[in-house]
Amino acid sequence: NRRNSLNFSGGPGALPESVLQQVQESIIAVPEVGLSILGISHRSDWFAGVVAELESNIRSLMGLSSNYHVLFLQGGATQQFSMVPMTLLRGKEYAAEYLHTGYWTGKAIPEAQREGPVRMLWSGEDMGFTRLPKDDELDFSVDAPYLHYASNETVEGLQFHRVIGRDDVPRICDMSSDFLAGPGEFDRFSLIYAHAQKNIGPAGVTVVVVKDELLDGAPTDLPGFLDYRAQIKAHSIFNTPPVFAIYVILLVTRWLRDEIGGLDAMDRINTAKADMLYQALDRSCDFYQARAHRSDRSKMNVAFTLSSPELESQFLAAAAHAGMSGLAGHRSVGGIRASLYNGLTISAVETLVSFMEEFRARRR
Ligand code: PMP
Repeated sequence: NRRNSLNFSGGPGALPESVLQQVQESIIAVPEVGLSILGISHRSDWFAGVVAELESNIRSLMGLSSNYHVLFLQGGATQQFSMVPMTLLRGKEYAAEYLHTGYWTGKAIPEAQREGPVRMLWSGEDMGFTRLPKDDELDFSVDAPYLHYASNETVEGLQFHRVIGRDDVPRICDMSSDFLAGPGEFDRFSLIYAHAQKNIGPAGVTVVVVKDELLDGAPTDLPGFLDYRAQIKAHSIFNTPPVFAIYVILLVTRWLRDEIGGLDAMDRINTAKADMLYQALDRSCDFYQARAHRSDRSKMNVAFTLSSPELESQFLAAAAHAGMSGLAGHRSVGGIRASLYNGLTISAVETLVSFMEEFRARRR
């Protein structure tokens, strides 16, 4: 008796109902083609049009200038943990700077260390990743080939509400869990990557936005598939791309533009959802404890705990009984996590909040 509208999964996450309906139709036949989306050639003119429209939608949603390329790659965000240092760190003398703010940046660091010197600029590990660094804790070096960080730590629910780093050192950002969830100063980044399976689509495709000049001087002996320049040249059709996943993202970008009204409007909705849930936690802080330091709270992933693992299990079972799913915290930290991606509605958060109030009243 779970309900799709109440999917709080950390990823793959909830997608908008109207998009799912179009996807359902496309499984039988894409209206303008007459063929199933699962059986359309990636070399068809139609698919070239899909990639071109998707690229243009992302450019206009993000306000990107023409010196950025937009790529659709495979291998998930994990492959970007390696592709970035293969391209920018191999053979370098000065260390790239990495922030260790949670589980996922912790996965990126050892991949970079395989390629060249890495300096861990800051780590929140000793504090159990409950907050992000303040500006006066960060001493960026001008010599670094690049700075790498994640705008949103999905597991711990920590989000930067500002751009960090120096404007004269390339900024590389993992935006997997807050991509296209709100506006940003995207032109201050040299490379942004985000897999689709949180805010914009199913698993299987990763969007990379990369500034032209970043690739000057990249090694020329990389495997073709792992060479951003080869991917740019092939317009993301270097080999058979995930046609289905790319088509779903196209539908989500149309939804963002036509039904939501762009990234500012999306952010207003996402902020309203997050505020509602954090306020509910703060009202009942004798019973529910938010994990993240107030100033670094994520709008996408709201992580909290109850007083014991037993009570948390009861909470999850009762929530599932009420039709809600995906609320268990990541296996590395436990607790509860409600993910409020673009596709999750305000009314789903209202349902969760009233459930939480009832649960507390019954158990207190
Ligand atoms: N970065 C972040 C911020 C993530 O949340 C995740 C996965 N949830 C990853 C990277 C890894 O992504 P993938 O499984 O697509 O490789």
